Amino acid sequence: MSFTRISEIGEFGLIDRLSALVQPTESHLSTLKKGIGDDCAVIALPNGKFQVISTDLLIEQIHFDLLTTPLEHLGAKSISVNVSDICAMNAKPLYATISIGLSNNISVEMVEQIYKGAANVATQYGIAIVGGDTSASITGLVISVTIVGEVDADKITYRSGAKQGDLICVTGDIGRSFAGLKVLMRERQTMLDTFAENPDMDKSTYKADLSDYQKVIEKHLLPKARVDAVKFFHEVGLVPTSMIDVSDGVGSELKHLCRHSQTGALIEESKLPILSETREVSDEFEDDATTYALFGGEDYELLFTISPNDFDKLSSFKDAHVIGKMLPQSNGIKMRDLFGTDIDLTNTSGFQHFTEEEFREDDSDSHNHHHNGHDHDDEDDIWGERKN
Ligand code: ADP
Ligand code: MG
Repeated sequence: MSFTRISEIGEFGLIDRLSALVQPTESHLSTLKKGIGDDCAVIALPNGKFQVISTDLLIEQIHFDLLTTPLEHLGAKSISVNVSDICAMNAKPLYATISIGLSNNISVEMVEQIYKGAANVATQYGIAIVGGDTSASITGLVISVTIVGEVDADKITYRSGAKQGDLICVTGDIGRSFAGLKVLMRERQTMLDTFAENPDMDKSTYKADLSDYQKVIEKHLLPKARVDAVKFFHEVGLVPTSMIDVSDGVGSELKHLCRHSQTGALIEESKLPILSETREVSDEFEDDATTYALFGGEDYELLFTISPNDFDKLSSFKDAHVIGKMLPQSNGIKMRDLFGTDIDLTNTSGFQHFTEEEFREDDSDSHNHHHNGHDHDDEDDIWGERKN
C-alpha cells in the first residue's frame, strides 16, 4: 500500500476520495436527495418534507484553546456551528446529539459547563438535545455534534442553483471572528509569558483586560447561527438560489457556490460588510481587514444568492448585504478592489485542514493552526498574484 500524506491532497481532496468509496452506499436509496457535498445531507420524508443532517467535530488545540475559551461558550459554539449548516440549507433545526471525548484534566463540573452552554443556545434555537456518546480521550477534549432539521421540499437551498446575474449576498458582517481570534491569541501569549515570569503566581488571580475588544471576541467565542435570516426568507417567501454558511471565509465559500453552480462571480471590496471594530484590530496587527473578511472564517454568517427579481423582498431584512453578482463561469471568480483592479480569487483559499503548515511540529503556538489557521502575516501568499 502506498503512503500518500494527507497534506498532499488536502482536506477537500481527501473528502473527494472518501466520497468515491461511499458512493455505492448512496445509490440504492431513492429517498436520498443529497449525500456528501453540501452543508447537509438531504433526505425526502414520507410527508413531503425534506430532512437535513449535519455533523461537525471540534478538537482541542485545533478548533479551540481551553486557556481562552470559556466552557459554556464552547458548548454553545458546538451547537451553533451545526445549526449554521442547517440554516445553509434554508431549513429549521430540530434535534441534536452531542458526543464527547474527555481527557483526564476535565472535571465533571467542566463537562456540565459545556452542556449548560449547549442547552442554553439549543433552547434559543428551539432544538432538543436528544442523545450522544461519551468516551475517554488521550488527545484532549473532543466534541462532536450532529443536528437534524427539516424544510418544505420546495424551500430547500443547495450550494448549486445560482444563475448568472444572481445577486451575491451575505448576512451580518465578516472578518470579525478572525479579529477576535487574533486578539485572543495575543492575550494567550501574554498570559503564558506572565505565568513563565512568575512561576509562583496564583493563576486564578490573572485578569485580562479585553474590554476594548468585546465585540470581536464575542463573535469568535459565541457565534450565532443565522436562524433569523432563514425565518425571514420563509416569512417573505424568498428562496435563495444557492446558499452556504461562512465557516472558512467568504472567499472560500464563494468558490464552493461557483463550483457547484457552474458560475463565475465578481464581488466588490467596497461592499464587504466589515465592522469598524474589525478594522481597528486589523490595523493594530498591521493586517488587511479584507483578508480577514475573505479568508478569516468562522463568522457563521450566510453567503447566498438571489434572483435580481427578489431584491425587493430582501430589502426589508436589515442585516443582509449585496456584495456582488454571479457571472458566466468563463469570467472566473474575482474581487474588484478599492482601486478598481479585478483580483483573481480562484487560487486563493480559506482555511483547509491538513496543509503542510498545520502539520508543522516545531511550532510552540500550535493554536495558530486553528481552524482559521492562516498565517496572515504572509499576505502575498494569500493574494497570490495581487497587482496594484
Ligand atoms: P462544512 O464546512 O459545511 O461543515 P465540510 O467542508 O466539512 O462542510 O464538508 C463538506 C462535505 O463533505 C459535507 O457534505 C460533509 O458531510 C462531507 N464530509 C466531510 N468529512 C467527511 C468524512 N470524513 N466522511 C464523509 N463525508 C465527509
Ligand atoms: Mg457549512
